Amino acid sequence: MIEFDKNPDVHFFLCRQCRAHIALDEEHLLIDVMNVGVIFSNAVNVEVEDNPRRHIIAGICTAAEARCSRCMLHLGWKFVRVPDEHFVFQAGRFLLYLECLMLWNGSKTFCPVEESESEEENDTDG
Ligand SMILES: [Zn+2]
Repeated sequence: MIEFDKNPDVHFFLCRQCRAHIALDEEHLLIDVMNVGVIFSNAVNVEVEDNPRRHIIAGICTAAEARCSRCMLHLGWKFVRVPDEHFVFQAGRFLLYLECLMLWNGSKTFCPVEESESEEENDTDG
């Protein structure tokens, strides 16, 4: 397992389930892809399936499942084939779900997105 230095100058993402170190914040290219994920140029401690079953993400590309190599949590995808490479969508890059990740921001580890809560406001007639 690769471990990043946990110091104030290094920000990185961890597996939310087992806290394995996954990707450096500086490797992230784009946050909030379809409001769910982050594109990384590289990731560590992830298992990528050898034989991608041609998963298609939003009609954009073929991708292989990427799982945490410690706990096997499905973290996201690795782009295998991108017919129309542009911007950050290129083969070899990772799309990881924010809801599967924690973020070390130099001083603490926290969830970059909370699980969606449904807050309801009750209107009461006076
Ligand atoms: Zn894990």
